[in-house]
Amino acid sequence: MAKVTLNHVYKRFANNVVAVDDFHLDIHDQEFLVLVGPSGCGKSTTLRMIAGLEEISEGDLYIGDRLVNDVAPKDRDIAMVFQSYALYPHMNVYENMAFGLKLRKFSKAEINQRIEEAARILDISHLLDRKPKALSGGQRQRVALGRAIVREPQVFLMDEPLSNLDAKLRVQMRTEILKLHQRLNTTVIYVTHDQTEAMTMGDRIVVMKDGLIQQVATPHEIYNHPVNQFVASFIGSPSMNFLNGRLVEKDGQLHFEGEHIHLRLPDDKAKVLRDRGYVNKSIIFGIRPEDMYSDHQFLEANPFESSLDAHIDVVENMGSELYIYFNNIGRTQMVARVDAREGLKPRMSIRLGLDLSKCHVFDSETQVAVF
Ligand code: ATP
Repeated sequence: MAKVTLNHVYKRFANNVVAVDDFHLDIHDQEFLVLVGPSGCGKSTTLRMIAGLEEISEGDLYIGDRLVNDVAPKDRDIAMVFQSYALYPHMNVYENMAFGLKLRKFSKAEINQRIEEAARILDISHLLDRKPKALSGGQRQRVALGRAIVREPQVFLMDEPLSNLDAKLRVQMRTEILKLHQRLNTTVIYVTHDQTEAMTMGDRIVVMKDGLIQQVATPHEIYNHPVNQFVASFIGSPSMNFLNGRLVEKDGQLHFEGEHIHLRLPDDKAKVLRDRGYVNKSIIFGIRPEDMYSDHQFLEANPFESSLDAHIDVVENMGSELYIYFNNIGRTQMVARVDAREGLKPRMSIRLGLDLSKCHVFDSETQVAVF
């Protein structure tokens, strides 16, 4: 069993920085768990504590059922892949992959067999004689993965392994790492600051900020039910739109009133907000760019009070869809993702319909999600 358990783990550095604050989580056997968050949120420190490269200030760490707080990195049955690849420049690919096994006194035949197998999986069999400098970035990253695979560890730790690759290769390697995970049936703990990587790779995602876990959930759950405004803004591209305003009752209906915007909330959402005591209170209203529509069919089928006037500033053409940036409601810049066939252009004035069944509401003071 290669579950990993972090039991109220803290990391305090000498300069009083609490880099990791009460990290408490069971990582399941064979799970692909992604730690994501902005720079400095503590994700690398968490990974380095699991690897044994950083001492734990407080709390317990288990790999399987074994308490490993005081176990040396080499005895933890883990392998780590770094952003920098960390290949030995004077050794060829074969020697780089063999190095860890030689240290552990594996027989030559065993080393050969493991390297051949890993090289086949990663499609680098033809590169075994080359030195790292004669490899492309993608090939180097494959070798770094190969060096981890041959160890046959219980747990793989990966710290931004794709950051040095160009965009196309990154997408390709993403799929390869996922295939590798399915094939090897091991636990993977993967650190990234890239929310797309987190969404596409993780069985579960841990979103961190300032050393604290914000939310642990599946990509679907995190995207559709973010627990607070930070998670809502960090996950999703382009980001969710936020508007400040108040909730007011008018003619038995609950309305959101922001600067130059009035929306009548659907009955089920209104009920939750009334029950929670938000009538006549300030709230933050959230809507994702893809939950706004510019087509006539949508506008005709939905009440007028669920749409807004938009004067388009910028249009980004993504091929199949357009990102339209507009800011004529108050001073808030907003963005909508619409079908490219709509043919929208900068400086056009349009009406955008909002799918309010998908809207989010956050408490103005705590930024915690009501829904
Ligand atoms: P990045 O994506 O930039 O690598 P991160 O989320 O991985 O960021 P960490 O590297 O874990 O963040 O750092 C978390 C916090 O701990 C930061 O505030 C950082 O400055 C601090 N920190 C990291 N290492 C040390 C250290 N050796 N001594 C003191 N503070 C440190």
